Amino acid sequence: MDFSLSEEHQMIRQAARDFAQNELLPGVIERDETQTFPKEQIKKLGELGFLGMMTDPKYNGSGMDTLSYVIAMEELSKVDASASVVVSVNNSLVCWGLETFGNEEQKQKYLTRLASGEVIGAFCLSEPEAGSDATSQKTTAIDKGDHYILNGTKNWITNGGTADIYLVIAQTDKEKGHKGINALIVEKGMEGFEIGPKENKLGIRGSDTHSLIFNDVKVPKENRIGEDGFGFKFAMKTLSGGRIGIAAQALGIAAGAYDLALKYSKQRKAFGTEIANHQAIAFKLADMHTQIEAARHLVYKAAWEKDKGKNYDLSGAMAKLYASQVAMDVTVEAVQIHGGNGYVKDYHVERLMRDAKITQIYEGTSEIQKIVISRSILRN
Ligand SMILES: Cc1cc2nc3c(=O)[nH]c(=O)nc-3n(C[C@H](O)[C@H](O)[C@H](O)COP(=O)(O)OP(=O)(O)OC[C@H]3O[C@@H](n4cnc5c(N)ncnc54)[C@H](O)[C@@H]3O)c2cc1C
Repeated sequence: MDFSLSEEHQMIRQAARDFAQNELLPGVIERDETQTFPKEQIKKLGELGFLGMMTDPKYNGSGMDTLSYVIAMEELSKVDASASVVVSVNNSLVCWGLETFGNEEQKQKYLTRLASGEVIGAFCLSEPEAGSDATSQKTTAIDKGDHYILNGTKNWITNGGTADIYLVIAQTDKEKGHKGINALIVEKGMEGFEIGPKENKLGIRGSDTHSLIFNDVKVPKENRIGEDGFGFKFAMKTLSGGRIGIAAQALGIAAGAYDLALKYSKQRKAFGTEIANHQAIAFKLADMHTQIEAARHLVYKAAWEKDKGKNYDLSGAMAKLYASQVAMDVTVEAVQIHGGNGYVKDYHVERLMRDAKITQIYEGTSEIQKIVISRSILRN
């Protein structure tokens, strides 16, 4: 067993770290406050190959492994989780889903543009009445021979307003339950496709979250991913890998808050000494460091399993469950270590604390991760 990173992985870490410091940090507080999407930064991330990291170079991707992707996610999330969620959705839900399950024509037409960052994508599963219970799809895709007619509403869609390509899950045959669900590629501008208002959120406020409305949208049959009825399996398989990306985001949020708290504790003085010299603070730092290291091992292990072609449903769920809890615990303590300064925006930790919460909710809540984990361990 070798826990050291290869030279290539170290270079990716450095490149993502430099990008986060030079391109994401300036303006991150303002973007959070004004809910401004990091448009220029995402464009540059695309140019640098961060939007199609795991995609084959023949489809304009960077051809890297999942470990490279989680390392980049960790570094970007230390500074700006609103930008990193765009990277996560585009890489692991949209590009990976299309590359793994799409046909050659779909890959040439859509994946090449998504992996290069020319356009970004969105993954549309959740609905007003179908969140954790994703089988309760009310959006319908009625089979009309050479096309589907799509009707319904999707909720909480990341990149909802800024994406050009949307992977939409919808029910074709209600009688068949989850086996009657399809995944369709929908393009912005198709007639009857409307983008609802932007959500005003607690955290990741720079990311662009919208509801989407489909009114008799005509989607050609060649835009269906996989066989008829494959849509639910497509969504579950894709989300299973997506969780590793969100786990890395949670890890990065925690690590970013810890770095700031460590630095602050060595500068701030109280009772004639740096606060790090008070054991109560030093012990908090010890706990935070230990939790982050444990989370990192779970996240990297899940990425490693995916790269080795092993089943990663269990390791991905454990990584997300644990890393998101660590993100919450560590960011709360980072605010505490900053005292009053932790409560204001200039010191960044309050934003990281708000950003941490979403990692326990999207791509399967923590309760759903426990269902996945318990089912897996009880089966074996
Ligand atoms: C900012 C943001 C971005 C998002 N981005 C996307 C996106 O890009 N695409 C997309 O499709 N979705 C997206 N989502 C939706 C997200 O995945 C859902 O919010 C999430 O799956 C939870 O669904 P819900 O909100 O309907 O909550 P519910 O399913 O109603 O759950 C409410 C509570 O009940 C618990 N619960 C539900 N069922 C069970 C059970 N069986 N056992 C125990 N507890 C249970 C949940 O864990 C939760 O605590 C996003 C959400 C947000 C807030």
